[in-house]
Amino acid sequence: MVIIVCATKTIKEGNMGVTPQSKGITIDFDCQFAVHVKDGKLSSILAAFTEILSQMLPDFFQRVLVGYGEYVMALRKKPFSCDCCGNDEKFTWKTKHGKETKILTIYRWVVLQQLQVLCKKCGHKFYITRTLLGIESHKRIPAETYRKLGLLGCLTTYRVAEKIGGMFGWAVDKMTVWNAVQKTASEIDFKLDGNELAEGEADGTGIGIKGIAKRGKELKVFIQYKKGGGVRVAGLDIGKYNGSWNKLFQNSIEIFKGFRRSFLLITDGDTTILDGLKGKVKIIVQRCLWHIPYQARYVLWQDGVKHKSEEWLCIISELLEICAIRPFVDCQKTIEKMIESKRKRLDSLIGHCRKQGFNHLVSYLESARPDMFTAIEKRLNGKTTSKVERVMRTVNMRVNVSKWSDSGALNVTKIRLAYYYNGFDA
Ligand SMILES: [Zn+2]
Repeated sequence: MVIIVCATKTIKEGNMGVTPQSKGITIDFDCQFAVHVKDGKLSSILAAFTEILSQMLPDFFQRVLVGYGEYVMALRKKPFSCDCCGNDEKFTWKTKHGKETKILTIYRWVVLQQLQVLCKKCGHKFYITRTLLGIESHKRIPAETYRKLGLLGCLTTYRVAEKIGGMFGWAVDKMTVWNAVQKTASEIDFKLDGNELAEGEADGTGIGIKGIAKRGKELKVFIQYKKGGGVRVAGLDIGKYNGSWNKLFQNSIEIFKGFRRSFLLITDGDTTILDGLKGKVKIIVQRCLWHIPYQARYVLWQDGVKHKSEEWLCIISELLEICAIRPFVDCQKTIEKMIESKRKRLDSLIGHCRKQGFNHLVSYLESARPDMFTAIEKRLNGKTTSKVERVMRTVNMRVNVSKWSDSGALNVTKIRLAYYYNGFDA
């Protein structure tokens, strides 16, 4: 359909008088090609354009690479050196069209003929293609490519990623994007940042796992508050409900110790969260007060209390009041009185539930009770809104559209959260 003839005409330095390496070089192309179309419709013309681009890519790469190779060979000091003798000045060309190598770009695979030089000092010959391209030796998929595809695969489904790529003429399939996600994720690790606040939240969210019918597994997230507002991700793990939370904190133990005051951890309550930290670091736990009335609805259902019945409304509204904290009360005496009154109300609520035989709710509230007002008692800010909740929505938008393997879900979430919260980009 399309014939392309490209020829390098001249190579000139971008701007004489300026350090050439910082300004780069200009490579002129003379291109000639024929376009064959059935009709003049928008779609036909764009299809032809896409076709030209994809056919031009390998030639384009090769020409620019050779052009740049010729430019650096004319420099006194080369941007590469001989592995044998360390010489970085005296070389001759062995070939500009040597053994083929295949690399994946975000558009498609490109086959390149390698550039090979000969060291004038020791006679060693070697390829300089990958050095010039700035990519790792022996890797068919450069980091630059898999990180971009990895980011794409975490922002949308693999199917959609393939579809969107196809619309722009890419030849990158679902499997390639999937692989890129796993590879990119393997390079991402989360931990606390010692320069940010000694305050954060931990929570879990359920995700669907292949072969597990009901609730699947839990994705656990540990976030840290930032000085300028906002949050960053400090830990991520996947596991069973009520399973270990150790991995969430294990990268951060030393940083926990480095904070000048105890770390304030807000959590929705699973006490096993802290097992991994016991005896190692000082932590003040504050139950997430926002979660308590919310979780109580589920617990009341377990106790057989009818949704929105008189009893249900009484308990939930009382809990909402107990859990509502006015921010910025800074008088110690007022805080003490306030907490005393809230504890009394909580105790009488627990007493009432015990009489009624709502055993699930009784044990839930009793386990929460010791940590409900810690932060406020310490005159720290007892936040009642959950920031981790927002993070979980970011997670769910991607993981709820599929059934996952453990590592598949963890990896896609890693990149997604790194991108949205920790400044990762590709
Ligand atoms: Zn040498």
